[in-house]
Amino acid sequence: MSRLEELFTLAGQVKGFMPPEEGRALYDAGITQRRGGTWLEIGAWCAKSAIYLGAAAEQLDCVLFSLDHHHGSEENQRGWEYFDEELVDPLDGRLNTLPHWQRNISRARLEDAVVGLVGSSQVVAAHFSTPLDVLFIDGGHGHDVAWDDYRAWVPQIVVGGSLLIHDVFEDPSQGGRPPYEIYLAALTSGDFSQRTAQGSLRWLIRI
Ligand code: SAH
Ligand code: MG
Repeated sequence: MSRLEELFTLAGQVKGFMPPEEGRALYDAGITQRRGGTWLEIGAWCAKSAIYLGAAAEQLDCVLFSLDHHHGSEENQRGWEYFDEELVDPLDGRLNTLPHWQRNISRARLEDAVVGLVGSSQVVAAHFSTPLDVLFIDGGHGHDVAWDDYRAWVPQIVVGGSLLIHDVFEDPSQGGRPPYEIYLAALTSGDFSQRTAQGSLRWLIRI
């Protein structure tokens, strides 16, 4: 089995909400970038998307920062649609995906290509100024948090860099609006052109 097949197979086994075709589309977007760049994903969960993107980062000697406070989004909490009892820490009853994330990156042997950033997106953004060749937004989907991510991180993408946004649903009956709103904002800003759409994933390039 090739290294790429190994990583795609592993990513497919990780808990998460990303179908394989979208994971491959993430890889395809990553692999077009220059060598040695800095990439960031907002929303790490258990490392499924980090393994797909990390597969490209590894080949290009890039580093993907995989950012999450690891306590889940609103829809992951008890009583909501995407709650998973197995991810609750019995010590404090809070969701904690960090041990799962760490274990999966370790299994994938991607430690040199994928580095975890544990904290809130807003706190980290205020102290992070490295220009980004790839930004993948898949964090909180509430209105305020999605727009905070857009305002804080999108300006850090270099010309020619990629902006990837997950859970973009044009039809409101399919899902919440904020990811779609920030996708539209990027497109209508004139700073981005769309490369591809795969499922709910949109890939834009800064022009
Ligand atoms: N990209 C992942 C899925 C991410 S799920 C995958 O495909 O596997 C969304 C994640 O965003 C959750 O883990 C949640 O904890 C995180 N999140 C939500 N709001 C956040 C914020 N303000 N700062 C950091 N992480 C946040
Ligand atoms: Mg998502």
